[in-house]
Amino acid sequence: MKRVAILTVAMMFFSMSAAAQDNSAAARVVSSVRVYRVAHEPQIISEFVSLLSIPNVASDTPNIQRNATALVAMLNRRGFHTQLLPIPGRGPVVFGDLESPAAKGTVIFYCHYDGQPVNPSHWTGTQPFVPALRTNTIDAGGQLIPFPEKSGSYEDDWRLYARSAADDKAPIIALLAAVDALRANHIPLAINLKLVLEGEEEDSSPHLAATVAAHKNLFAGNLLITADGPIDQSGRPLVFFGNRGVISVRITVFGPLHPLHSGHYGNWAPNPAMSLAKLLATMKDDDGHVLVAGFYDNVVPLGPAERKAIAEAPDNDAKLLRTFGLAAPHGGGKKLLELLNEPSLNIDGLQSGWTGAQAKTIIPDTASASLDMRLVKNAGPDQEFSRLVAHIRKQGFYVIDREPTMDERAKYPRIAEVTHDNGYPATRTPMDLPISQALMRVVDAAASQPAVKIPLIGGSVPMYIFNDMGLPVIGVPIVNFDDNQHSANENLRIGNLWSGMEIYAAILAGLRW
Ligand SMILES: [Zn+2]
Repeated sequence: MKRVAILTVAMMFFSMSAAAQDNSAAARVVSSVRVYRVAHEPQIISEFVSLLSIPNVASDTPNIQRNATALVAMLNRRGFHTQLLPIPGRGPVVFGDLESPAAKGTVIFYCHYDGQPVNPSHWTGTQPFVPALRTNTIDAGGQLIPFPEKSGSYEDDWRLYARSAADDKAPIIALLAAVDALRANHIPLAINLKLVLEGEEEDSSPHLAATVAAHKNLFAGNLLITADGPIDQSGRPLVFFGNRGVISVRITVFGPLHPLHSGHYGNWAPNPAMSLAKLLATMKDDDGHVLVAGFYDNVVPLGPAERKAIAEAPDNDAKLLRTFGLAAPHGGGKKLLELLNEPSLNIDGLQSGWTGAQAKTIIPDTASASLDMRLVKNAGPDQEFSRLVAHIRKQGFYVIDREPTMDERAKYPRIAEVTHDNGYPATRTPMDLPISQALMRVVDAAASQPAVKIPLIGGSVPMYIFNDMGLPVIGVPIVNFDDNQHSANENLRIGNLWSGMEIYAAILAGLRW
């Protein structure tokens, strides 16, 4: 009788689908990790508070280096091999490596330990580098409370206020606490874990590409998971498979050498503000479609897996229109999530002449526009910039990358100075790769509600650096979307740290592809 029962159970197990096996394995990991966490909440938060107490603005050299030293100690305590990849005068890239005998592959986690610059006078009741606990958000009337004693516990909706509490020290703590919890439960890591912690992400990562290139051998692996950014606004976890690239462009159109009296010279002297306005108006149609020739030519179309993910993602468009006070969107009926997969051309601002209260009747000498182009896979910064310049030429402009000489002013009626920053390309990992599918299964199995999966987030982070090395890059963020990242009163919802810890533990223990 007993033998029959065992046999039946065994047959049931082997007939289970991969997804069902992932589910039950992840459920076991999550419940063990939760038991560990409930017993260790004050210790986990205490390590977090120590890390948040070290000021972490990238340009604050002594303090950013103190952060790196603290991180190395945290990794060493857990048996990681660590290495500092130095950047003169800046916080080094902290590299950690934890090998697992059972591993069949290697997953690299990327986080950054620097934070946005702070203005303490804008913070409400607390200081950016003196972490504080509240019973809820400030907006919801959250009150300051002391951190619980050693045997105390935390409510999920409590908020930890400090710079980088969310962006991006929370994932570092969640990941290390996940390693501790797995170890305490004797659950082996299914992967070799590598950790790359950057110290100048909020300062545009000026040295990341060169630092990674100089230590290429360290970055061998099967997948890079970026932990930066918030989860979906619905509160569901988020898995994203890429981000857009970006390039910033400045266009200046020239009029007379100095502003002229509009009464004396109006109708006669060409006005650069009008000329720039007309030029910009040729770049897009009334529905926001970019008219620059070839702009969409190399865009890699979405595959079936990507289209399915977008169809299944929450449709927040109507709510967003109301939130932003807009009557109707651009995009010819496409959803926001679809439009994020196309390159965009945007005017950031315009500058010319005079707009003060009193009349000042002039023909301005110059007019400038700052533009940004968000880029998608295969439509790189140089390519889209050349297309834009060709478009400006086609409108009759003589295009240069500096101020015009007197000879040029005499010769060309329309002159545009067009310059750009370096920019960088987009990253996109196909959602139907076996490792992509495996990761989505594990996250869904570990989280209390299924993750929102999207091909691309709209913003730009330089993950192409890793993508160019052949690493698929996938984002698994954990922090609350209402975290005030980049502004005053940055905060983390405590429950997000706990769920993040469970999701990361499930990945470490159960990602198989
Ligand atoms: Zn960040």
